[in-house]
Amino acid sequence: MSAEKATALVLRTTDWSESSRIATLWTREFGKVRALAKGGRRIKSNFENALDLLTLCRIVFLRKSSDSLDLLTEAQVIQRFPRLRTELAALYAAYYVAELLAEGTRDYDPHPLLFDEALDTLRTIGGADQPEAQATGLRVARFEMVLLRELGYSPVLDHCAGCGGSVVETELAFSAAANGILCRRCRSGQRDSRPLAPSSWRMLQELAAPGDSWRRPWDLEARAEVRQLLGQYLTYLLGRRPRLLSYLGS
Ligand SMILES: [Zn+2]
Repeated sequence: MSAEKATALVLRTTDWSESSRIATLWTREFGKVRALAKGGRRIKSNFENALDLLTLCRIVFLRKSSDSLDLLTEAQVIQRFPRLRTELAALYAAYYVAELLAEGTRDYDPHPLLFDEALDTLRTIGGADQPEAQATGLRVARFEMVLLRELGYSPVLDHCAGCGGSVVETELAFSAAANGILCRRCRSGQRDSRPLAPSSWRMLQELAAPGDSWRRPWDLEARAEVRQLLGQYLTYLLGRRPRLLSYLGS
């Protein structure tokens, strides 16, 4: 058993006994960690409400070597995201981010870049300043694309995912089962393929590219199509539809 320190986002908490809770934490250093917080349900506990959902905190935990749960010994708040308390759309988007991290990652599989991306997403959608129109939906789409890349499921976007050949912009389709775009010939053999508009294709490419070129106004149709497509792709990969998906705006 060793004491570890980490920076963590609280993804989920479950009551464990009359006084304790199990916290699912997304840490920068260790990836997803599940730890028992003894006394975590008491109002005056060691954790001082640091275990509220989607709070950024500094934690100390005892890592168990066997199958038993890690033990949380300290949690201090670093940052809260105030707009999550006042705006439902921001809260749903943040819950969706937490759901993808909790369901899509494995215990002790660290992805510091994905941690930073999640934190930046929460700061954009839940920070004190009102984000610009469309910023929440676009920020969540960028988070999803980074999550896909970090977990090894980046969709193929620059050539046909079926035959590897080049594609014509006006004849594109996307297939979750094929992990990307398909040319006109390959799309007919893939049952889940759906047509993909050129503007949506460009938006997907910018969301997947390094840098900030994704941060610009996209037309409503592209945003709506990309929202649907990313939801469909993540549903396929997770094997079930994320619970919060239908609450998201584009
Ligand atoms: Zn093809």
